Amino acid sequence: MDGARTDASGSTLGATIDDIRRQNLAQVLRLVHRDGPMSRAEITKATALNRSTVGGLVSELSHRGLVVENPAAAVRKVGRPSPSVAASDQATAIAVNPEVDAIDVALVGLSGRVLHRVRYRNERTPTVGEFVNVVSAIIEGMRPAFGDTAVLGVGVALPGLVREVDGSAILAPHLGWRDAPIGLLVEEATGMRVVVGNDANCGVVAESTFGAGRGDGVVIYLNGGASGIGGGIVINGRLVGGEGGNAGEFGHTAVSTRGCRCHCGATGCLETEVRRDRFVEAAGLGDVEPGAVLDAMAASWLDRNAAGAVEIDRQVSRLAVALRSIVNIFNPRTIILGGHLAHLLAVVGEDEIHRRIAPTLPGGGSEPEIVGARLNDELLLIGAAELVFAQTLADPTVMPREVASSLVR
Ligand SMILES: [Zn+2]
Repeated sequence: MDGARTDASGSTLGATIDDIRRQNLAQVLRLVHRDGPMSRAEITKATALNRSTVGGLVSELSHRGLVVENPAAAVRKVGRPSPSVAASDQATAIAVNPEVDAIDVALVGLSGRVLHRVRYRNERTPTVGEFVNVVSAIIEGMRPAFGDTAVLGVGVALPGLVREVDGSAILAPHLGWRDAPIGLLVEEATGMRVVVGNDANCGVVAESTFGAGRGDGVVIYLNGGASGIGGGIVINGRLVGGEGGNAGEFGHTAVSTRGCRCHCGATGCLETEVRRDRFVEAAGLGDVEPGAVLDAMAASWLDRNAAGAVEIDRQVSRLAVALRSIVNIFNPRTIILGGHLAHLLAVVGEDEIHRRIAPTLPGGGSEPEIVGARLNDELLLIGAAELVFAQTLADPTVMPREVASSLVR
């Protein structure tokens, strides 16, 4: 009944049987990677492949160490229980996120789970050389945690502009790195394949795969972090990088003609107008723990006359200016806010933000959902691992087992 996309019918497209099989393997692997454990019957339904084809694909993925079939977690629907098929955490990636105050390194399984994590606190902003030394030392120290997993490579989520072809940092302003061949240096130090991406792009990929933006459609992500506002765009599961990889730099959207001067040279950029430290200053909080700021924002907002509430009001209006442009340009299904922006959303509520975004083009029911990021402090590490997994998810046959096992002690 549902065999319309079997190997044989695929040949009418001019592709070889091998191509079709690779595409089918990739489709099944991406499905269980994104949606978690599923029965063979559910995979059959979701892929519209026939049952015996799915059985063969699952066996091959299992043989390659990319999925596991777990009878214990059998999915009992109507009829016989069907063993669940899950992405295997025997296939892993090492995720790295350098920040001004810390370097995070984690071992992440193909299921998207963080299996092991080490946080190295920097005494001062690390140089490129110090970063490479710290990362290779942490990875060396983590080897016992690898166990018998196959490490497919190292993904780096970099807070800055990245030249994707060679993984070098064009400019990471807050780390003070410029024209630094990060990918090459980490590869030389670790002997592993290295993929480097912009941190906000890693964030939107992780959220649209496992978090608030799951499913197809246009997903926009904006994150308010200590070093400014980053963002990313995913359309139907694909990251939109732009010609130079800078698409989604929403932090430099103009939201005021009379605002502060930005480090980019412009005036009134979103990231200079909407910042946590401007709230902290306005509310007179002094040296406050970052974790306590959300409570202070909520308390200020309840007391509508407080200086903090005036500042929140100003920031939400500025944010709404940027969001109105985003809604009119992209007509997104979901807008995901992270960091300080998620706190603004939590304090004033989604309805208030929608009220200030309006009016947008009349679309009738196509208003986006505006939600907070779900993956919290593991977001960038999961996204960095996705940089590495992308190759295997696109073609599960490119990773012969002997290559994978040679990377592991
Ligand atoms: Zn700017």
